[in-house]
Amino acid sequence: MNRAIDQALRERALKVIPNGMYGHESVRLLPASFPQFFSKGEGAYIWDADGNRYLDFMCAYGPSLLGYRHPQVDAAARAQLEKGDTLTGPGPVMVELAETLVGMIDHADWVMFCKNGTDATTMAMSTARAQTGKRVVLVAQGAYHGAAPWCTPIPAGVVAEDRAHIRTYIYNDCASLEQAVAAAGDDLAAIFAAPFRHDAFTDQELPDPAYAKLARALCDRTGAKLIVDEVRAGFRLARGSSWDALGVQPDLSAWGKCFANGHPISMLAGAESCREGAGSIYATGSFWLSAVPMAAAIETLRIIRETDYLEHSVRLGDALRAGLAEAATRHGFTLRQSGPVQMPQILFADDPDFRIGYAWVEELLARGIYMHPWHNMFLCAAMTEGDIDMALAAADEAFAAVRARIDTLEPHPVLVAMAAMLEHHD
Ligand SMILES: *Cc1c(COP(=O)(O)O)cnc(C)c1O
Repeated sequence: MNRAIDQALRERALKVIPNGMYGHESVRLLPASFPQFFSKGEGAYIWDADGNRYLDFMCAYGPSLLGYRHPQVDAAARAQLEKGDTLTGPGPVMVELAETLVGMIDHADWVMFCKNGTDATTMAMSTARAQTGKRVVLVAQGAYHGAAPWCTPIPAGVVAEDRAHIRTYIYNDCASLEQAVAAAGDDLAAIFAAPFRHDAFTDQELPDPAYAKLARALCDRTGAKLIVDEVRAGFRLARGSSWDALGVQPDLSAWGKCFANGHPISMLAGAESCREGAGSIYATGSFWLSAVPMAAAIETLRIIRETDYLEHSVRLGDALRAGLAEAATRHGFTLRQSGPVQMPQILFADDPDFRIGYAWVEELLARGIYMHPWHNMFLCAAMTEGDIDMALAAADEAFAAVRARIDTLEPHPVLVAMAAMLEHHD
């Protein structure tokens, strides 16, 4: 595959952008052949800067729910753009979108819009503290809640004081949650939980209903607020709050990524019991009230309510999971496939330093399939059965190619260094 344009862009970027790229879309932790820059997306496909096309199982790391350049969503965005986007005050679409979301999310009596998931999780924390007058916030060990000093997984630039009242428990572990709550004494402001455990580098775990119910009960007992971080999983598991299925209603929930199908908007949703706290914090941003993403969100939410986007993604996810398991076995590999099928994590058994996984996704990439070696992936509603068949055919060849060079594989050097750092940071 030709990568001349990508290579030239990387060289230019190195001069004007630290490390040439930063954050979750940096390819520093991906196999060497992965392109850094993409020029185009359409439906379930992305094109790199050199024009190579891939079936995209990352969906922009979450934002693409229905597929790139969705005709109806983007038409709604364009219509709003013709009228105005960021103005001196919000547009009427803000109220319509807020009413729509309060109507779709059971525990939500109000919402506040922002841009990124980190804005929403940070606002959730501040709201809980403002509402309760307490300080301690419990988060599950290894859970991702964003890139602010209180929650970033990378310690550079963070001082201990940034996390003075952030403490951890183990997801799905009732005893560890009870201990952490007890240790907080009468200073507990909030418990954060993801809808399911979707940490990088490891198997995903669905929530144990006993854990979710315990988190609710402990908040009820102490007066703390239960915050569900829906930024990644929201609207990919359900058409409302992900923990409805468990009968657990949070007090606050943070949303982002996909509810405007790639247009930049996130939000904090909350119950009546947190309205006063939410109203007391100073929350704003120059672009938080832009009307274009709000118009896109209204249309995306209509499609969420009125189509089988979710059932379709689950059907395709089931086919992918079953087909991959079968092909892996045929080539003498055991896959660890975990989490909801529409948000799959695909790791190899007996691959502690990920060298097999890295080689496999590299072989897939060469065959036009973009998969990730250690981050959960996403299916979008634009994918078809034909796409899944194509991915399975490529996977079959990729397993064979990896099998043929299994004795020559090496671990990824940056990943090894990073894993060591993450292990020593909590
Ligand atoms: C992506 C993510 C965030 C942060 O969202 P940004 O838009 O990247 O700031 C927070 N929580 C979870 C669970 C996420 O997946």
